[in-house]
Amino acid sequence: MRKLIIYILCVVFLCFLIPILFTKNLKNNLVAKTEEIQSVETTYDYGKYNKVKLLHTKTEEIEEIDLDTYLYGVVSSEMPANFEMEALKAQAVVARTYTLYKIINNNSKHGEASICDDSACCQAWISKEDRLNKWNEEERQNNWEKIVSAVNETKGKIITYEGKPINAFFHSNSGGTTDTATNVWGGSNYPYLQAVTTSGEDAYSQYSSEATVTKDEFISKIKENHSDFEIDFSKENQIEILEYTDGGRIKTIKIGNLNLSGVEIRTIFGLRSARFEITIDGDNIKFNVLGYGHGVGMSQTGADSMAKKGANYEEIIKHFYTGVEITNI
Ligand SMILES: [Zn+2]
Repeated sequence: MRKLIIYILCVVFLCFLIPILFTKNLKNNLVAKTEEIQSVETTYDYGKYNKVKLLHTKTEEIEEIDLDTYLYGVVSSEMPANFEMEALKAQAVVARTYTLYKIINNNSKHGEASICDDSACCQAWISKEDRLNKWNEEERQNNWEKIVSAVNETKGKIITYEGKPINAFFHSNSGGTTDTATNVWGGSNYPYLQAVTTSGEDAYSQYSSEATVTKDEFISKIKENHSDFEIDFSKENQIEILEYTDGGRIKTIKIGNLNLSGVEIRTIFGLRSARFEITIDGDNIKFNVLGYGHGVGMSQTGADSMAKKGANYEEIIKHFYTGVEITNI
């Protein structure tokens, strides 16, 4: 009889108690997970980021505008309105993310303002009135509506990595492959900014360019930055590429007695990118350049090229930023 009772108790334990304990654990786990997700999402009070304090660099005035109204002025300045709708939507989400990243991480560069209207510093922005004046009658009707739709149809959407808005760099044309931030600016990299390849960018005018300087100009321009610069063109191997980046840009180049970065050469000679070939041609130095811009993050012409092949804005964003999510704020 006692054995039977123990047996029954064992059966009850196995059949009911273990599943209950297990379910409870699972439930606790689920509650913990949900809380974790919620805590990530509420780390930022996105509601207070609906306004942007924009610095007008020409007048030095700070204007407070609604986020999406600000984005109409950014998207219309940063991307040609005749690009595909999905590319414009990708640009809207990238610009919204870039803006929030600046606000959240206290872009103290501009004091009270969170962002400025200069493309070389933050993001280009132009007022609706000024933008419409740059377009002819037909463009005015079609383009503005298209820009507004791109922003409104992606309302509240930003790009996140591990729950946080990413530093959404973008540029005009990668010349085929983008690059990591470290390769371009040094410092530490962001895991979502990797070198990725996109086909179709060669169809755009931003893809290739040339620049020529005389040997004398070449020497004097480098000497402006490096007074100890010396080069003897009568000797062999005076210009030699020592190292390329993951994305095929020049990382280090030996010129005369100096080792310089591709980024510095790009700046000194005003090249469109640091992806270039350099040749000595008689009395001249010639640069053949691929791509336009720093090459980090989304390539805008790459985005348009993907959209033409049927990619939507989410696919475009996930192509250029590795391992990210599109989050609704
Ligand atoms: Zn700025």
